[in-house]
Amino acid sequence: MERNIALDDESCCLCGASLEDMHHLFLQCNSSQLIWAKVAQWVNLNIPVWSLMDSMWAWIDGVPIQDNKRLIMMVIVYSTLWSIWRLRNSYTFRDQKFRKCHVMDNIVVNGFNWLFARFKKKKHVTGRFGYNLL
Ligand SMILES: [Zn+2]
Repeated sequence: MERNIALDDESCCLCGASLEDMHHLFLQCNSSQLIWAKVAQWVNLNIPVWSLMDSMWAWIDGVPIQDNKRLIMMVIVYSTLWSIWRLRNSYTFRDQKFRKCHVMDNIVVNGFNWLFARFKKKKHVTGRFGYNLL
């Protein structure tokens, strides 16, 4: 869909309805909420609808989960935020190469790539690059 939104327009480029701030873009926007719902379905986790980023981080911190699974959850969260940001930029800069239909694939592929890179690094690299998140 072609959108005629000027770059100085402060409305959300995904829905056009609200002032775009990080809370709206990543959590409150209908488009973002649909993405989070798909992520929740994918990971089979009952994810609440957050309205503030602090609420999201607090919920994540409170999930009773093993550290290795928490790392995977954090990768999925960051991958989701990154994909929403890519979608936002695609609409903002009228680069339609990245569309809503690409978001879930992007979340999954980025998540696996980031985890693969992290575990590969842990296994093969030591010393100053051998950080350990677990
Ligand atoms: Zn919006």
